[in-house]
Amino acid sequence: MSPLADLLRRRIATAGPLPVADYMSLCLGHPEHGYYATRDPFGAAGDFTTAPEISQMFGELLGLWAAAVWQQMGEPSSLRLIELGPGRGTLMADALRAARVLPAFRTALSVHLVETSPLLAGRQRDTLAGAGVPLAWHDDLGAVLPGPAIVLANEFVDALPIRQAVRTATGWRERVVTLAPNGRLAFDLAAPDPALAAAVPAALRTSPPDMIVEWRDEAFVRRLAARVAGDRESPGAALIIDYGHTISGAGDTLQAVRGHAFADPLAAPGEADLTAHVDFAALARAAAAAGARVHGPLTQAEFLRRLGIDARAAQLKASAPAKAAAIDAALARLLDPGRTGMGALFKVLAVADPALGPLPALD
Ligand code: SAH
Repeated sequence: MSPLADLLRRRIATAGPLPVADYMSLCLGHPEHGYYATRDPFGAAGDFTTAPEISQMFGELLGLWAAAVWQQMGEPSSLRLIELGPGRGTLMADALRAARVLPAFRTALSVHLVETSPLLAGRQRDTLAGAGVPLAWHDDLGAVLPGPAIVLANEFVDALPIRQAVRTATGWRERVVTLAPNGRLAFDLAAPDPALAAAVPAALRTSPPDMIVEWRDEAFVRRLAARVAGDRESPGAALIIDYGHTISGAGDTLQAVRGHAFADPLAAPGEADLTAHVDFAALARAAAAAGARVHGPLTQAEFLRRLGIDARAAQLKASAPAKAAAIDAALARLLDPGRTGMGALFKVLAVADPALGPLPALD
């Protein structure tokens, strides 16, 4: 039994069933036994592989995107480049290397890594040693001082906890994790709660009865929108890349991944990655309501093509012909148009100050 499973069982036995959101945030973020606190999950030897770990092209193109947005911001002499959930720091390292083509941009930069896992922050420090720009770590976006900012978040929002609920004949009931008679963790529904109807986003309130609906707390998007669009003196932009859907709808997308395969989300708490689809329509609504302008979403494939990924791949192959097959394989994976392929399942959305106007590759 994992230490976290033991802890969760005792907690449920004494304090009652845990809402799915609390279960998810404990599994991922428990300071001692949480998934991200205890391991580096990336790559072939880990549980899953993210776009920056597939190819340097991903981070490079995002770095060039940020440089172009900085120019659009009027080239402020001081820019905070913020990354949320930077993993191994690979994306930022590639972005900063690509940004060398615009020395004035690099000179303006301070880099802010928002990371809750001390273990991964250590990995990021190793990766970014010698990056040649000032680096700072924070455990929350709110800790980054005000000023012109560009925010990058790849596969960050999918790890933010979701709430789940079901509309039954007796009213809305929250989905919880409880203890089955055999002592195992099991999903259940809490007693009907009249207050829950108001918490369910309007777009999901008319979902068919007995279907699971899920949503994230909008506080994160509202804070992000306020950060980049709340100060007319220093317009900013945030780029969110993640897997998910562009139309809000009912359905349970909570998933566990372990060793590159889907797993039971309750089987090994703290030892499997736990994520859920990002509802991009909900993100867009919340950001717009907070006063930001929303750009996209568009698919990852479309976004990377517009940024010139094909030309970058050709350039890399020309300078390293022995690696041509590996570069083509990485390119195909990032652009994969299949239903579960990264090119189509992953979407890109920007949230920005309306004063910035159209953004590169998005409008
Ligand atoms: N962006 C990286 C890693 C994605 S995995 C990549 O594309 O490879 C999710 C990352 O978010 C991890 O670094 C994890 O530790 C971090 N994380 C998860 N929840 C977080 C939170 N609430 N605040 C800050 N970082 C968080």
